[in-house]
Amino acid sequence: MNEPETFPPRRRSLNKSFSGFKAITDLSFYLDEGELRTVIGPNGAGKTTFLDLITGRTKPDTGTLQFEGTHDLLHKNEYEIYRLGIGRKFQTPTVYTDHSVFENLLLSLGGSRSVWKSLFYRLKSEDKDRIESILKTINLTDRAHWKAGALAHGQKQWLEIGMLLAQNAKLLLVDEPAAGMTDEETHRTGELLLSLAGKHTIVVIEHDMTFVRQISKDRRVTVLHQGSVLCEGSVDFVQSNERVIEVYLGRKSKAA
Ligand code: ADP
Ligand code: MG
Repeated sequence: MNEPETFPPRRRSLNKSFSGFKAITDLSFYLDEGELRTVIGPNGAGKTTFLDLITGRTKPDTGTLQFEGTHDLLHKNEYEIYRLGIGRKFQTPTVYTDHSVFENLLLSLGGSRSVWKSLFYRLKSEDKDRIESILKTINLTDRAHWKAGALAHGQKQWLEIGMLLAQNAKLLLVDEPAAGMTDEETHRTGELLLSLAGKHTIVVIEHDMTFVRQISKDRRVTVLHQGSVLCEGSVDFVQSNERVIEVYLGRKSKAA
């Protein structure tokens, strides 16, 4: 459940400084299971650092981090957090370019197989079915045997989302998926994320407001600014919020 903002902030809100610079300041963020939440905010707002904190890449100076109510992420390392079902897609695709799309998904299945074992073990029919179903979801069935390196930029991003699905990620953290995509690829990425919402909990960080509007209809959008939540609400609400507009002034005419 989303709890209302309180002031002074709760002790469990997050703080993170880098050499004295406060990248995350009293950040409180709650996400419902199955929710698709978009996070926007100007460059340097702390969006990527926020994902780094969730995934254990960076540890907060103060605050608490809980997953599914029972898992305390604060005292877990990156691998343990990943094993709990928290998957992350970085801005630039990180697929195995010399392996086929199919193999990339196979390597991600279960998340724990070694590369060597995966490629030489005899494919079980349930694994094959699973990969085929993921290929369908990410719209790459006809590219299954292409080398991942030969895919278009957008397709690589979808493959990477597919790899998160193969890993059994329950929470998908997706950093600027539309960056570098054509309008059509962006739209299809939106459809893909919408099709995954509900079955997965998803945080999308994005700048492209057309895309944000596509995926956030009737959903909550969070605006980060200077490491804190500046505003949270429907996309119309945040886009017309004076403080949000102010924060973006001088960059773009409207929130992005
Ligand atoms: P965003 O993703 O919203 O653009 P970031 O989370 O990448 O913002 O960065 C927030 C601020 O924290 C920026 O000013 C950035 O320079 C700073 N920052 C992020 N990571 C580090 C780091 N490892 N060391 C020093 N400063 C960092
Ligand atoms: Mg970033």
